[in-house]
Amino acid sequence: MANFPEIVHEPTQQGFAKQALAQGLIDSHGRAITDLRVSVTDRCNYKCVYCRTGQVGAQYDELTTEQYLRLIRNFVDLGIEKVRLTGGEPLLRRDLTEMVRELASWRTPLGQKLDIAITTNGHLLEDLAQPLKDAGLSRVTVSMDAVEQETFERVTRVPGSFPAVVQGIRAAQQAGLGPVKVNCVLLRGFNDDQIEGFGHLARREGLIVRFIEFMPLEEGRLWNLDMVVPVKEIVDRLSTVFPLKPLAPNAASETARRYGFTDGIGEIGIIAPVTQAFCGACSRIRLTSDGKIRTCLFSHREHDIYAQLRLGATDQDLRTFILSAVEKKEARHHIGEPGFLKPSRSMVHIGG
Ligand code: SAM
Repeated sequence: MANFPEIVHEPTQQGFAKQALAQGLIDSHGRAITDLRVSVTDRCNYKCVYCRTGQVGAQYDELTTEQYLRLIRNFVDLGIEKVRLTGGEPLLRRDLTEMVRELASWRTPLGQKLDIAITTNGHLLEDLAQPLKDAGLSRVTVSMDAVEQETFERVTRVPGSFPAVVQGIRAAQQAGLGPVKVNCVLLRGFNDDQIEGFGHLARREGLIVRFIEFMPLEEGRLWNLDMVVPVKEIVDRLSTVFPLKPLAPNAASETARRYGFTDGIGEIGIIAPVTQAFCGACSRIRLTSDGKIRTCLFSHREHDIYAQLRLGATDQDLRTFILSAVEKKEARHHIGEPGFLKPSRSMVHIGG
């Protein structure tokens, strides 16, 4: 991030802000913040057992597309290079394709195109994959917690969801959004019997399958450390499908440990925020559907940038606000430590 060009607007008076305008978005722990996750809705058409109680719908308002774009533009002017649209379920948002088209037309201050990704449950992807690709979407990650229909639908609690997601993944591949990443949250006793099946799926379909440790971010109270399946067990069990070898990370801030099967067919990633936290390399910041900046999934404090918009903030005011929020980014999370408290919002309402 050296030599990040100063943006044309007047710099702010704060020392930290001045430095950030000159260097990109750097937090007070020296981490470059390049990755913005935007929740475009907290509505979801699934009721995954580890995420939702099954009773609660949307809890928060949604910004208009114009408001999202204005806020995201200011993040990008400060150094954001990747924008991931998530939720809730982002494909429920009717104007998503238009939002992607607009984001894809932008350039960063360094003249680069934005890397635009979506995380989706894939239920509506069959019809939307091609329009999203045409609009400029770079990549898609589909959440899929089982390779067998019965287990899958026991998790989502939506009959018919399995074939819909399989069709969605195929449509994404056909639209040229590959290699598609498939994210699976593993829970002991729910779906840990699917590990080997996912190994076969990665090899057969040319997918990048990533296992994610269950984090204490559910609406109810389900999480405990015994439910987390350790990395070693996942690797050992996948090695029975075909021998695995570690692969080099694609980037320093990559959250997944990468493995490839030794014949080069299929890729596995393991994301272990609980047992092997990667906070030291965190490059992320989040914007919730109701316009709050969250600097960590586990933040107890939110930064209400929507309130600034409503008060008539200029773009420079918004950037100063973003810089000040980034400065307060937490050094790390404290999952599993004595006194750990879950954040007041759960994953579906933050934007995963
Ligand atoms: N609806 C979209 C989807 O299903 O991908 C986007 C939002 S969803 C909240 C994003 C990701 O967070 C999904 O992969 C989901 O499995 C994951 N997730 C939800 N709750 C989680 C938890 N407590 N721990 C780890 N991952 C979780």
